[in-house]
Amino acid sequence: MKAGKVAKDLDRQKDLLEELHALVDRPMRLMVVCGTQNRAILKYGIREKLPVMLELVAGPGCSVCVMPAGHIDAFVKVATQPQVITAACEDLIRVPGSRESLASIWKKGARVEVITSPMDALDIARKEPDYTVVYPAVGFEATAPGVAETILEAARLGIENFCVFPSIRLLPPTIDLLMLDPDLNIRGLLCSDHINTISDTEAYTLLAKKHHLSCFIAGFELVDILEGLVSLVKQIRNNESLFDDTSAFTYSSADNRKARKMVSEVFFAVDTDWRGLGTIEQSGFVIRDELSLFDATKRFNVRFEEGQESCMCQCNAIISGRGLPPDCPAFGMVCTPQNPVGPCMISDEGICHSYFKYNVPAHRAHVTG
Ligand code: SF4
Repeated sequence: MKAGKVAKDLDRQKDLLEELHALVDRPMRLMVVCGTQNRAILKYGIREKLPVMLELVAGPGCSVCVMPAGHIDAFVKVATQPQVITAACEDLIRVPGSRESLASIWKKGARVEVITSPMDALDIARKEPDYTVVYPAVGFEATAPGVAETILEAARLGIENFCVFPSIRLLPPTIDLLMLDPDLNIRGLLCSDHINTISDTEAYTLLAKKHHLSCFIAGFELVDILEGLVSLVKQIRNNESLFDDTSAFTYSSADNRKARKMVSEVFFAVDTDWRGLGTIEQSGFVIRDELSLFDATKRFNVRFEEGQESCMCQCNAIISGRGLPPDCPAFGMVCTPQNPVGPCMISDEGICHSYFKYNVPAHRAHVTG
């Protein structure tokens, strides 16, 4: 980044923080839904610079953190079958199932490849015709267009040794459920502009109205996040429940239409399990019957069953805004990024990982009602 831009950003950050201090005149609790935005806030020490009455809690926006053990068990079961290559993102590989993770069976000889996109998995399938390549599709709605495009491409090219475990989750139904808890007392949601990739603005507008929330969609730069916080605080002071989306211009409506069309051609929504949060209505995608050849659950006749998760881990409270990492007795003691007990300590987007990495002082970490 050029020196002039850095200096300009620092000035803007300082101004925004001063504005927040002037605006926050009562206790306000906001949920920062996205793990990447939480990481930016912790990395730059913003929590310590916020007004005391402005509390930030984390939300369920870390895709690896919400993966239930039962889904990992299904990935493991298929990955250990002969002539199977599992192609998965690095963070997912380390998430514990009931007994094993993809990483642990990899060490025992299963063929697991680390990739960064679903198209990488399709490339492996092209090059390895004697294997069935399985891609566990995890992530939120923003990942769905890329996975849908890959499945449609496999169908178009007739690459039949490729299939997908559908484990994509939808945030709005889960946020809706969390906001029903009056004890949470969340007044505003800061969300990332990932959601605009399939333009789910209607869902967030409804959430804002239903729960009397202020919502703001921001980018990942610190200035974007601080502008989001200022907007939320202003909305709360004005008693407004709005959906404010400054980043909508980033995605053209033609791109959105194309993405939505691909997603609806490939997936439909069903009730889905979330780690620590149970089964949530219409909160995940499965693959349509017409494309069942590319559905790993059907090809291997595997179901997602209930798994066993560590009773020590408090990720469920942390991803639902009911606590913060230092509230967990395992944090930094038995649970560290080198020896993670729960998924929130694995991914860069995991809130426990960010707290540990950026050494956030505990006195600013606890939610105070
Ligand atoms: S510190 Fe570890 S055990 Fe505790 S909630 Fe976070 S990931 Fe789970």
